[in-house]
Amino acid sequence: YFYQKMWETIKATGKWQGEVWNRRKSGESYCEWLSISTIYNDDDSVSRRIGFIRDSTDEKLNKETIWRQANFDDLTGLLNRRALTERLDQEIKQSGSSGLPFALMLVDLDRFKEVNDMLGHAVGDALLKIVGQRMENCFSSTCAIGRLGGDEFAIVIGEIADIPSVGSIASSLLERLATPYRLGHDFAFTSASIGITFYPQDAEDITSLWKNADQAMYAAKRLGRNQYQYYTHALQETADKRGRLSRDLHEAIQGNQFILHYQPIVYLQAGTIHKAEALVRWKHPELGMISPADFIPIAEENGQIVEIGDWVFYEAANQVAHLHEIYSSEFQISINKSPVQFRSNSNQHENWLEYLTERKLQGRSIVVEITEGLLMEAKEDIYSQLMLFRDNGMQVALDDFGTGYSSLSYLKKFDIDYIKIDQSFIRNLTSHSEDITLCEAMVVMAHKLGIKVIAEGVETEQQRDLLQQIGCDYGQGYFFSKPLPAEAFEQYLKEHPERVALRRVVI
Ligand code: C2E
Ligand code: CA
Ligand code: CA
Repeated sequence: YFYQKMWETIKATGKWQGEVWNRRKSGESYCEWLSISTIYNDDDSVSRRIGFIRDSTDEKLNKETIWRQANFDDLTGLLNRRALTERLDQEIKQSGSSGLPFALMLVDLDRFKEVNDMLGHAVGDALLKIVGQRMENCFSSTCAIGRLGGDEFAIVIGEIADIPSVGSIASSLLERLATPYRLGHDFAFTSASIGITFYPQDAEDITSLWKNADQAMYAAKRLGRNQYQYYTHALQETADKRGRLSRDLHEAIQGNQFILHYQPIVYLQAGTIHKAEALVRWKHPELGMISPADFIPIAEENGQIVEIGDWVFYEAANQVAHLHEIYSSEFQISINKSPVQFRSNSNQHENWLEYLTERKLQGRSIVVEITEGLLMEAKEDIYSQLMLFRDNGMQVALDDFGTGYSSLSYLKKFDIDYIKIDQSFIRNLTSHSEDITLCEAMVVMAHKLGIKVIAEGVETEQQRDLLQQIGCDYGQGYFFSKPLPAEAFEQYLKEHPERVALRRVVI
């Protein structure tokens, strides 16, 4: 039949080309490329036919390789992004006829970079292979499983009759992926964050499905990793808002849109005020006042925190210089410094110290508030930055104390001057609560280490009294004052002259 067709074509067009399988004398079969053309006489009758033969076995294998490479991931043998996208296309058609939804699940390993950095790329690759195998074991053969690159995987689950069942599949996958990986003599640990989106409920085109799954996956990361999140409309709104704020932040510094508010920190035994915390706010030209809780994480993500933090420092330094002119030069302003600022190699800390010298301010005028996470990183350069601060008299406070690891050894090692007890401990403070015991324990412990204690979020007289009784050194909170713009803050100090030591030296 094949040859009959071939002849028909040659008779009709004079030409034919295609692959023909043949067998060598050795018995090995091979593929040849045969191309036939015709030379005609002047009267259009056939003079002769010419055939070209080329052994195309290698080429054929090549094509197969190309096909493999075009569709599969080399490392894991799973599908690649292109093939997955094609599969999505098919599923959309399939769903159209079956009326059943399908799901796109995006899986990203948590802290895979650390495995790579610590154990090396070869081990990282071995781990990714096992992850691929574990995934294949978790899903039925009708699912399309792929690796998009790096430590990012995706699964298309077709024809879903029961949407919640996808959540339990995700849970069991999380469990599988979080079990230790045996890699030669090493054990590695990782977990994953998963984002899930459904067709047609969440989106009806492939680009949006990828975007949704991505957003949901990032939400899972932000919520603490090792979990799955469904794409929701609210997620979309949050993402849109974050995107907008991130873009608008670029103009905020040039546009002078930040302001600092100052919240007094009160010395509890005497009720005096020689410290304040600077808290940044963003006056968005259209959205109004934006809380740092909303934009600092974005600025940390896009790196703008370095510039913002710089602005905060210079602004606070100028303000403290101004306060020194009016009141005692004992006055201190604390600023919050993000771990991202410590990690950036902008030499911020050195420029800051220079500026203080230039303005004839003692290092002690500025207190830097840091979080415990920073100390846990235990990086040499972070340590040396903190030491440089110390050597120049700048003090360091540990913010949100009690919410993290609260490790005593770090307090000693990094020469911390203050701990700030997190507001969550102060909120429900009564004389019989467990929290008062905890606060007292923190105070005793800190004092033994020569560290002073600041209680955050003091809102009532009772809380203030209790803190005073257990020997807490300082209090900060709405009970004393909300954070205020510079002028209002100065006004506040003026109205309480008895609280602001003019020249008296305070602890
Ligand atoms: P934080 O450092 O723990 O600051 C204390 C937060 O508690 C402030 O919120 C303050 O307004 C609020 N607060 C003060 N007293 C009370 C009270 O009595 N009750 C209650 N419920 N809250 C009280 P704010 O100003 O919204 O700042 C939120 C967080 O944003 C800060 O938490 C800090 O982590 C960050 N932040 C603020 N300014 C900066 C900055 O300049 N740089 C960096 N990196 N982070 C900043
Ligand atoms: Ca703080
Ligand atoms: Ca705090």
